[in-house]
Amino acid sequence: MNTVFTQAKRIVIKVGSSSLTYESGNINIRQIEKLCKILADIKNSGREVVLVSSGAVAVGASKMGLHHKPATIPEKQAAAAVGQCELMYIYDKQFLEYHHKVAQVLLTRDNIDHPERRRNAVNTFETLLQIGCIPIVNENDTVAVDEIKIGDNDTLSAHVASLIHADGLILLSDIDGLFERNPHEDPKAPIIRHVGVIDEHIHQIAGGAGSNRGTGGMATKIAAAEICFEAGCAMAIINSNRLEGLYDLLEGREIGTIFEKKAITL
Ligand code: GLU
Repeated sequence: MNTVFTQAKRIVIKVGSSSLTYESGNINIRQIEKLCKILADIKNSGREVVLVSSGAVAVGASKMGLHHKPATIPEKQAAAAVGQCELMYIYDKQFLEYHHKVAQVLLTRDNIDHPERRRNAVNTFETLLQIGCIPIVNENDTVAVDEIKIGDNDTLSAHVASLIHADGLILLSDIDGLFERNPHEDPKAPIIRHVGVIDEHIHQIAGGAGSNRGTGGMATKIAAAEICFEAGCAMAIINSNRLEGLYDLLEGREIGTIFEKKAITL
């Protein structure tokens, strides 16, 4: 039984664009409603919840009537600006159904690296959590260009977990967890249930640092786990196809892959 997530009081949950939208970029209403209901319930159970949500670019592009994926940076940024509004409108409405307040937090790399801005961000998160809000975080895509981009929301969510000293980060993915081999190529590949050390073997099966090969962007998830380990936070990857898996994880049932840094015994 996993105890690290059963005991986690402060949790960051990351959901990606592909889990929230259809191919067209339109919102998957059933999925987002279910996610909000479960997160509201988890919050009601006494845990602090922070949501890191992507989807702004996809939703914005669909709302703008673009028939292609936004290609240029200004086009992506415009789509993010339009989509972020729409996303927050939906989250606000959904969480209100369960009497929860939400807050939008948009971050970039320099907010995390710059000591004063970092402190401001921490203070804002702490205040929001104290008043019982569910902060909803995304990258500030309107201003973020390469040099100040965090890059992907796996990494952003790990930075947020570290910033607020979360007990656990849960990455909702399109895959069940980390597999010994790419399960799309080898359906018999065994899943790894627990990772205590992130070594060469783990990097290798994740597709190597920086690559997004095959296993649903696993390399960025391993990079996120490294940030979590550094911060003393546990991390889990579970499949967003079955959001009830969040209950399984938090109630100690076997699901996904759990990353919990192995204590060094001297
Ligand atoms: N911030 C981007 C969005 O909201 C997504 C970035 C990512 O998921 O890697 O569309």
